[in-house]
Amino acid sequence: MARRIGILGGTFDPVHIGHLRGALEVAEFMALDELRLIPSARPPHRAVPQVAAADRLAMVELAVVGEPLLRVDDRELKREKPSYSIDTLESLRAELAADDQLFLLLGWDAFCGLPSWHRWQALLEHCHILVLQRPDADSEAPEALRNLLAARSNNDPLSLQGPGGQISFIWQTPLAVSATQIRSLLASGKSVRYLLPDTVLTYIHAHGLYRGAH
Ligand code: ATP
Repeated sequence: MARRIGILGGTFDPVHIGHLRGALEVAEFMALDELRLIPSARPPHRAVPQVAAADRLAMVELAVVGEPLLRVDDRELKREKPSYSIDTLESLRAELAADDQLFLLLGWDAFCGLPSWHRWQALLEHCHILVLQRPDADSEAPEALRNLLAARSNNDPLSLQGPGGQISFIWQTPLAVSATQIRSLLASGKSVRYLLPDTVLTYIHAHGLYRGAH
């Protein structure tokens, strides 16, 4: 039977409850077989992560212990080249059955930036795109995406058929937490307890991560 696999990329610098709850809620809502968190090594679109890839990976692995729906995929960290999503999708596809369904999760802002991504028009050959939309958002898609949306969007994410090719929206209220906020709290010596799993917090303290001004 075709598997349903979600993927969520990010720097996870560090992973927090916003990522984890968001991922779990999408996995349950979409009845996924698994949702893979994919830490990026050298993100093409943003600043270099503050801590080493090995630490970010270790924290994500700790965070998903005991949650069978969430998995960690370290392929981008094993690659020498920049982490282009298209490369990740092609490499995932090479391991899956032809009819397995892949769902790439993107926040609305990331989705709007799609036209600047490497080979972005090929992404839908490999996956469906699920855009995570805030219920209060009233943003308009950029001009460059209008035709694509007209041709490929589907109002009902649960009705997406086949291995890929369509775009749908999931309305989700994100928890008010970000890695930036966590880094800044830690840099000023404040507690980040309850913003991320205790196991991740223990790792951060044991390895002296995110100390000092940034
Ligand atoms: P930073 O604050 O360093 O920019 P971040 O917390 O936004 O980091 P990323 O690693 O960039 O984390 O997150 C990867 C993806 O996780 C984002 O593109 C977004 O879709 C999702 N995400 C981030 N924060 C939340 C949140 N609070 N709730 C739900 N999803 C989130």
